[in-house]
This record gives sequence, structure tokens and C-alpha cells, in this order.
Amino acid sequence: MSLLAPERGAAGSVLSFPPVPSDPGFGVYLHWPFCAAKCPYCDFNSHVRRAPVDQARFAAAFEREIAESARDTAGFTVTSIFLGGGTPSLMEPATVARLLDAVSANWTVTENAEVTLEANPSSVEADRFRGYRAAGVNRVSLGVQALNDPDLRLLGRLHDVDTALHAIGLAREIFPRLSFDLIYARPNQSVEAWEAELSRAIDLAADHLSLYQLTIEEGTPFFALRKAGKLKVPDGELSADLYEATQQLTRARGLPAYEVSNHAVPGAESRHNLTYWRYGYYAGIGPGAHGRLPSRDGGRRAVANEKLPETWLKMVESWDRGSVEDELLSREEEADELMLMGLRLTEGIDVARWSRLSGRSIDADVEADLTAHGMVERVGPGRIRATPAGMLVLDAVVADLA
Ligand code: SF4
Repeated sequence: MSLLAPERGAAGSVLSFPPVPSDPGFGVYLHWPFCAAKCPYCDFNSHVRRAPVDQARFAAAFEREIAESARDTAGFTVTSIFLGGGTPSLMEPATVARLLDAVSANWTVTENAEVTLEANPSSVEADRFRGYRAAGVNRVSLGVQALNDPDLRLLGRLHDVDTALHAIGLAREIFPRLSFDLIYARPNQSVEAWEAELSRAIDLAADHLSLYQLTIEEGTPFFALRKAGKLKVPDGELSADLYEATQQLTRARGLPAYEVSNHAVPGAESRHNLTYWRYGYYAGIGPGAHGRLPSRDGGRRAVANEKLPETWLKMVESWDRGSVEDELLSREEEADELMLMGLRLTEGIDVARWSRLSGRSIDADVEADLTAHGMVERVGPGRIRATPAGMLVLDAVVADLA
């Protein structure tokens, strides 16, 4: 049975998903753009600085941009906050506290809001973790990436396995919720080796795992190495086998996929990321952050900030905001985004919502063709989703369907 197929009860009936909330929530994303070193595969907006970063000055700029963004979303209630990067665990707890206090001072935040901080094992200290917890962080997402030292070195990571295990142990002690990231489809990785590593990761009792295939992005050192024939990554067939092994093992161990790369004990899904994938609104604060904010006419604006930290800082100090793009999306663009994000989820998308935005119905012939090829399927009343095979070629499925 395909692992992402709907489960069947004893009598063969299709079990329904947990109800998908009608309100996808409102998230605030805070981007801390600094790292201790640049990993050779990374194309995120992350920067290494030789001199210490003036955290107080950056925190003041975050406070100003938070206040400005809150004016755009008056009346919204924050359901999740995510401190991402970069490496947010390079922030002093006092800096994190200032940022979280500013969010609470400018919006209403739900009592049970999920507050996640991304941390690198090498920048973890117990005092700092306790400080983050005291500041209001209730979920930590650790960038473990691999559980073997040669691969950690290959990935350019600054930690080794022992350091990662120490960080995981501390995080479990201090935070109610823990996720960690692993990268697979690494050079020379076999399915058996990955299964053993993933099984060990699951034993470490995180309630959530983000499992990403290594992708080689243009402009990175890994891209140049592969072009020069010095880096060989798994081909399409092996990658598909690794993906399938990932789905099987996580499902068998109680952390099924709920998104292409994300797996959780049911109920421990990342609420913040679900807001993105369910196409809710979110504010992006900090250098290079993106947001989707409401427009005055009930539409949606796509907002993107200046990426270079020091330029963003000066912009915010001058004008309270560091955005370089602020574009009103057409209804058709909104519908495309909703489908692109929503088909990443095993719960799929609400077809009626998509139709309201796009002003049309899903083309029955296209859907029938994709269904016949095993790429999409209907699930529950009014929802459509990608099958496991469709997930592997999601961009093409979305292009056909939308
Ligand atoms: S720690 Fe993360 S954000 Fe920083 S360079 Fe490495 S992959 Fe990129």
C-alpha cells in the first residue's frame, strides 16, 4: 500500500483526516541572518561577520519593523512565532526576549501560541537554552543534519555527532517540543545506511522531524564542485528509493509525513509552517524575510525585505520598514500559490477555496488524466491532494492542475 494513501478501516472504508481548521492562523516570522560559518550547500539569506554583531541595534530595528507590520494587520491574532535564519541561536536570550516582547506588545498573541527557535548544535549552551525558554520559546528546531561525523564534515557543519546528541538531550530537558532536521540523499549514501541513521534519529524522541533531500543550488560551493565532477549525489532513482524508505520508516515509527519533507507524531505538526502551507497570512520581519499580508480590498500582498543585513538595518532606522517588494497579488496568483503550497500537504487543498480565488473549476479532463497516472487523488469531501508519486514531481502536477 502506498504510504501516503488514505488509511482503510477494517471494513475497507476510507478513514477521514482530522478536520482541517477553516482559519489557517496568522504567523510572525523573524529572520536572524547571521551564521558562524557558511555551509557549502546553503543558499539561504545567511551572512558571516568577523566583527561581533551589534545585537541591541538590530533588536531595536526588529522592534520598529514589528510595530510597522502590526499596523498593517490590526486586529489579527498571532497563533505562531518562528525565529529562523541564519542561526537564531547566536542571539543572546535578551535579544530573543526583546523580539518576542515586541510581538506581544503589538499584536494579541494566543495563549497557546507555538514559539519556535531554530538552533545549531554548535551554538547551544544550557544557559542560553534556559534563557530562550524563559523568554517564551516553547519549541526548538535543531539543525542536526546528519548523525555521522564524516558526513557532517562534508556538509561543512561545525558540530559533530556527540555535540548534536548533547544539544538534543538539553533541548528535550528544557523545551516542551523538539524537532530536528536531517539532510539525506548525501554523496555515497545507501538506502540501508540512511534507514539506520533515520531509525536512530527517531529513537532520540523528537516529536517532529524535517527530512530534506540534499539539493544542489546554483551559486553554492557544492554546485561548483558537482560541475567539476568532484561531488556525486544520488541519481533520480536512488533519490526516489531514499524518499520511499523515508516515508515507510517514519510512518511505521509513528511520525508519518504531513508535508513533503516534514514528519510528526500526530498533533505535533509545526503550526507555524502549516499556516504557510494552508495559505494563511504571515508577517516576515528582518533581513530577507517574506510575508503575505492582507491588502485593503481583501486581497493579499507579497512583501519581501532587503536581504543585506546592514542595508536592511539602515532602511528600518530611516523608514521603519525594510521591504524592497510589496506587490498586490491577482486572484489568479493567489490561487496558484494556494495550490503550490497546499499540495505539499497530505491533507491536500480545499477545492472550493481554490475555485473561489481562481474564479474557475479544476479542469475535469486534466484531473482525470493526472488521476489515471496516479499523480493526484480526491480525499474526503471537497479536497484533492498529490499522491506519493505526485509529490516527487509536484511542480509539474501543480502546473498541470492550475
Ligand atoms: S547554518 Fe543553516 S543558514 Fe547557516 S549557512 Fe549553514 S545551512 Fe545556511
